[in-house]
Amino acid sequence: MNENIVKRNDLLAETVIKGLESRNMSGYYAKTAEEACKKALEIIGEGSSVTMGGCMSAHEIGLVDALKEGNYNFIDRDKETDKRAAMLKAYDADVFISSCNAMTDDGILVNIDGNSNRVSAIAQGPRKVLFIVGMNKVCDDLDGAMKRARNVAAPINVQRFSLNTPCAKTGKCMDCKSPDTICCQFLITRFSRHKDRIHVILVQQDLGF
Ligand code: SF4
Repeated sequence: MNENIVKRNDLLAETVIKGLESRNMSGYYAKTAEEACKKALEIIGEGSSVTMGGCMSAHEIGLVDALKEGNYNFIDRDKETDKRAAMLKAYDADVFISSCNAMTDDGILVNIDGNSNRVSAIAQGPRKVLFIVGMNKVCDDLDGAMKRARNVAAPINVQRFSLNTPCAKTGKCMDCKSPDTICCQFLITRFSRHKDRIHVILVQQDLGF
């Protein structure tokens, strides 16, 4: 990555972490995927039950493989035949791993969901929620974060799942009410009531979408 982008990300991460702390959430900054994975495993702790929403960023930093290979009770929803039971198990997990669709530079997290299992687990249930967030998802303000979530993250996710929505054809949000829409629930996480529940690892490189 260009050294000036790296410098900018280093400085911006300090601002984001201050913002998270002001909202009773914990922030960390990792310069590499390896560093991010190591920090995530430290926050999770051996022996913990862990589950996740569809989080590409966790795969990209090697966290999912590390959890499967290590001393963790990883609840792999892809292997569960009863999807509803897998979703319900997430609420009682020690740690729920997610990324966000976007966040503001003062620490507000934005997530959009279709099934809403991810946003509901972020809001309540699991003892800890661990976000893995590439610096590409940090936006100036809430309006920018909402626009990113709707015009970048959602249309790419729609392609990923081959859904029939207007954004699958235009590449931007058309504010649809299609049966296939993945924009059923919007979660804005602006403060954590419970200290030590929400942890955000910012990663220098671009992750997810
Ligand atoms: S509201 Fe509809 S058009 Fe907009 S991003 Fe969501 S699925 Fe796509």
